Amino acid sequence: MRYYSTRNQDNSVFSMEAIIKGIAEDGGLFVPESFPALPKLEDMKGLTYKELAKLILGMYFDDYPEDDLDEAVNGAYGDKFGNREPVRLVEKGGVNFLELFHGPTLAFKDMALTILPYLMRFALHNKGIEEEVVVLAATSGDTGKAALEGFRDVPGVNVLVFYPKGGVSQLQRLQMITQRGENTHVLAIEGNFDDAQKGIKDIFGDQEYNNELKKEGYVLSSANSINIGRLIPQVVYYVYGYLELLRDGRIEAGQEINIVVPTGNFGNILAAYYAKMMGLPIDRLICSSNDNKVLTDFFETGTYDRRRDLLLTSSPSMDILVSSNLERFLFHISGNDHEAVRMMMEGLTREGYFTWSDFSKEEIYGEFATEEEVASSIRDLYDKEGYVMDPHTAVAYSVYRKYLKETGDSKPTIVASTASPFKFPEKVISSMGKDVPQDLFTGIGMVAKAMDVEIPIQVRELETLPVLHGNVCKKEEMRDMILKLLQEVK
Ligand SMILES: *Cc1c(COP(=O)(O)O)cnc(C)c1O
Repeated sequence: MRYYSTRNQDNSVFSMEAIIKGIAEDGGLFVPESFPALPKLEDMKGLTYKELAKLILGMYFDDYPEDDLDEAVNGAYGDKFGNREPVRLVEKGGVNFLELFHGPTLAFKDMALTILPYLMRFALHNKGIEEEVVVLAATSGDTGKAALEGFRDVPGVNVLVFYPKGGVSQLQRLQMITQRGENTHVLAIEGNFDDAQKGIKDIFGDQEYNNELKKEGYVLSSANSINIGRLIPQVVYYVYGYLELLRDGRIEAGQEINIVVPTGNFGNILAAYYAKMMGLPIDRLICSSNDNKVLTDFFETGTYDRRRDLLLTSSPSMDILVSSNLERFLFHISGNDHEAVRMMMEGLTREGYFTWSDFSKEEIYGEFATEEEVASSIRDLYDKEGYVMDPHTAVAYSVYRKYLKETGDSKPTIVASTASPFKFPEKVISSMGKDVPQDLFTGIGMVAKAMDVEIPIQVRELETLPVLHGNVCKKEEMRDMILKLLQEVK
């Protein structure tokens, strides 16, 4: 399987190289040359998560030796997820929540960031790369911690995470600044997520800087969902979710379902689109945004316009105006039109917007949910079913309620449940009509009580772990900071 840049068909690489590079040299994203077809549903019905992951990863990452993929899958989806099936499908409130947050950092980012370090390490080894890899990640809250934890103490790799100062939840911040591991670095940047993400993309495109790093013995890579090594592992859980419905006898093989995804950088929903293109019977993909509703507007009008203020909401991991993976989606639905994609992306960078006149509304349903709608969804579902959603999942559930009202389409539906409510106690508690306590851990205790579960150890230990990272930098200082931190490790 070859991978092309979305902006130029002439440059193609195999998956190991795409994973090491993270992003193509022309600024485009790597996309597979085709979508492999899934085996018959009946034939996959008996597969465990690990077996399914091996099957799907093997189709896309076919330049890896089979033993490497086995080791990667076994290492990623075993004890890090408590040696249970890593995702659970829970039926509540008329939908099926695909709980993707049972990993080490309590958000769905773990589904890919537990395996990416293995894929990276094996790729470096197989390609005989001598330099150390510097993995950069911009985070709106959850990628950062998941990347730090995933790459911690991986030999030959340094990981640097930039998060928007003031733009992540209290708990997300605590998770990052207490990160252990000699090779981990965390920086707050004075700006928002888009600033951090753009800063990193610019650094990737800065040849001079890359040469300078190379002289010091480093090459850059990315842990954001621009890396194809993040995207493909996410395809697995949508297929798994469908098979769960099938195993429960809730659908017939071949019956179409809808999938609702709380969306920020468009990675998670794109993985669902890949599953659909591989033959999984999905009818509507429902793209849910919070008040930063750039994507909703795009799907409504065909114009993508980032010229607006980024709002800070209770779903910080979706506080994004430039959704990177939309580029891949546009590439696929335009029939691989590199030229058109390049023009649109250049327009977005230069002018702040682009219009796609060929856009068909059939492709995707886009809606958004306000803060009040999120709160009432959390409260309603808790009152009716005793089930607690985090604010991101609640954005998706709110949008689903609107969709149902508007269309009456009552197909079986999967909602991607992307974070544990423990990561966002403030919104969860206030939505339930209770006063939010001053102390974060008192709030966490209240969430545990509402959920009727123990506080996970990863959350409990944060109360006493020492703070190890306190660096703050300006956007313009990212390049210097990276060099400085790398020198400190040496
Ligand atoms: C990252 C994240 C999202 C958005 O996912 P994208 O792949 O960026 O669209 C939604 N919810 C949570 C909890 C997240 O961490």
